[in-house]
Amino acid sequence: MKRFDINGWVRPNILAMEPYSSARDEFKGEASVYLDANENPYNTPYNRYPDPMQWKLKERVAEVKSVPKDSILLGNGSDEPIDLIIRAFCVPGKDSILTLEPTYGMYQVAAEVNDIYCKKVKLTADFQINLPELLAAIDATVKVIFICSPNNPTGNSLKRSDIYKILDSFEGIVVVDEAYIDFSADSSLSKNLNDYGNLIVLQTLSKAWGAAGIRLGMAFASPEIIAVLNKIKYPYNVNQLTQEKALEILNNQSKMEEQLKAILEERTRLQQELNNLPLIMKIYPTDANFILVRVDDANAVYAKLASDGIIVRNRNKVTLCANCLRITVGTPEEDDALLKALRKM
Ligand code: PMP
Repeated sequence: MKRFDINGWVRPNILAMEPYSSARDEFKGEASVYLDANENPYNTPYNRYPDPMQWKLKERVAEVKSVPKDSILLGNGSDEPIDLIIRAFCVPGKDSILTLEPTYGMYQVAAEVNDIYCKKVKLTADFQINLPELLAAIDATVKVIFICSPNNPTGNSLKRSDIYKILDSFEGIVVVDEAYIDFSADSSLSKNLNDYGNLIVLQTLSKAWGAAGIRLGMAFASPEIIAVLNKIKYPYNVNQLTQEKALEILNNQSKMEEQLKAILEERTRLQQELNNLPLIMKIYPTDANFILVRVDDANAVYAKLASDGIIVRNRNKVTLCANCLRITVGTPEEDDALLKALRKM
């Protein structure tokens, strides 16, 4: 087990502060009359505040993900834990996070909102980690390293051995964002939570589980790290409707698996079909539910597709992604519409 002295890394003011204690925090048992939270007594059950710790849902997440309950934080999407982690560990105006570019844009945005500098280390031309450059970029201001694997927008998984090297050599927090892990053959890093006290793994119901609309993200880490994030989250950060729907979705794992299988088959077909199109100059390998492709003129292809009512993500301006489009794998019908439009160009 790599030891992590959390007290040396949490922002001193957060370490020192008393968290808000909500009505539902203070009384946890079962009672017949609730007059403690200034709720309207009618319109049950949604007149009541939800469980601030979402224990029923966490029990199911713990089973599905094989992670202990007290190692789980649930959030309003995984964007919430990204923000919480930055706020918990980085001092505004002083500290920084480190990201591997190109990657998911919210790490930088969440950092900048909090007046935290975002240091960027470029991935190599094949979108892998440049380990010497990354290690050289670590200085005393870097408190959190964000690693997205499979990576958005490139689609590939980052080498597991490189991730382990970072976990071994960096003393601060290492976040591995696994939003797309269900589409990959790799296992989750959550199985390594006991090996690395500085590891936080992020997952979400927004992708393979088909529930982007309900906003349910998950962070897995040591109970000490989870306790710090709990201390600063909004008291009722996951609403009752989301808690109920998420439980229903997680209780129907076979539906997700069926859809996952269909998406993976369709991903292979879409790769093959794109490969036959002269317009597509390069198809990057993917472990996610999207495919990054390079074309001659991404702006022009994007605009033509949009005029046909087909929207892909133009990544032309992103580091190492000149003239690249990111295409989400849709239904066979949706992908046929895309292919038809591309063939006519
Ligand atoms: N991480 C990555 C890599 C993503 O691509 C996304 C969404 N596109 C998120 C996190 C956030 O997902 P959500 O807030 O829906 O859980």
